[in-house]
Amino acid sequence: MREYDVIIIGSGPAGLTAAIYTGRAQHRILILEGAVLGGNVALTDQIDNYPGFPFGITGNELIENMWRQAQRFGAELKYEQVLKLENKVTNKKVVTAGNEYYARAVILAVGAKRKTLGIAKEEDFMGRGLSYCATCDGAFFRNMPVAVVGGGETAFKEALYLTGMASQVYLIHRRSEFRAAKTSVTELFKEPNVILKTDKIVKELQGEAMLDSIMLEDVKTKETEIIKAEGLFVSVGMVAAGEFLENLLDNENGYLKTKNDKTLETSMAGVFAAGDIRSKTVRQIATAVGDGAIAGMAVCEYLQRL
Ligand SMILES: Cc1cc2nc3c(=O)[nH]c(=O)nc-3n(C[C@H](O)[C@H](O)[C@H](O)COP(=O)(O)OP(=O)(O)OC[C@H]3O[C@@H](n4cnc5c(N)ncnc54)[C@H](O)[C@@H]3O)c2cc1C
Repeated sequence: MREYDVIIIGSGPAGLTAAIYTGRAQHRILILEGAVLGGNVALTDQIDNYPGFPFGITGNELIENMWRQAQRFGAELKYEQVLKLENKVTNKKVVTAGNEYYARAVILAVGAKRKTLGIAKEEDFMGRGLSYCATCDGAFFRNMPVAVVGGGETAFKEALYLTGMASQVYLIHRRSEFRAAKTSVTELFKEPNVILKTDKIVKELQGEAMLDSIMLEDVKTKETEIIKAEGLFVSVGMVAAGEFLENLLDNENGYLKTKNDKTLETSMAGVFAAGDIRSKTVRQIATAVGDGAIAGMAVCEYLQRL
């Protein structure tokens, strides 16, 4: 059976919350996930700002709890990357590499992913020293010098995580001020193995088979310097992850516009958006969960009206 009441694309906190709400209303639901269960939360070491856990919780534990809750209400999960969404007369068609699925409503919860630096050899060194996720790959760099590029909250979290295993952590940022919270900045700079490189950009990646060092350029003086770093963690912002949608739905730089905050329905009837993929100001677990609940409830009402 490839027919469902609701297909949820993405298994991050938005998708899993939508699954809890729609599953609890006894709809037949399928979650399609193209990578790992839990989205960006599963790639986060420690979460301190999601309410209900006074001493924080690991990303894996939080996702495991959400998934078990969704399963309790009948959620089915398949690991398949969605390649296309089509509007049909009576339903929606969702196409993956090997299958076609149909549903009366779709919730898009595909989130956002890391921006690349856009410099030469970036793809060549991917998985050979260059990574976009310290929690996933940090352990490969035990006792080695590494660098993190970025000045936001995520970059600081990644750098702090790496201080516990790498011999040295360079933090490279193109400005001298940071977007990260003051507490995160203070916490990182307490660590003895952190070296700050402000007003610098990554100019060149160097090494044979594996990354070995990085050439930095000063944005003001244009002077260059080479630092020894066998790992480089890129954390320079996020981009919307719904490229398979092309321009099917109204969006702002790929982030989906919703008709209103009450239903989170997109420009296509029966297709809803929740979480980081939505055009909004705060992209956090708490807001993703809120979106998942709103979209989940709205879908239930939509199905009743059909
Ligand atoms: C390193 C890092 C640390 C963070 N720390 C915190 C924190 O401490 N506190 C906090 O509140 N927030 C934190 N955030 C932000 C938080 O993780 C996100 O706001 C939240 O995960 C958004 O949830 P989501 O469900 O919208 O999307 P995501 O968690 O991004 O999940 C989207 C899912 O959709 C899947 N997907 C995408 N495209 C497709 C496709 N075509 N087919 C099938 N599946 C697809 C992805 O593989 C992914 O699993 C952090 C983010 C990062 C990157």
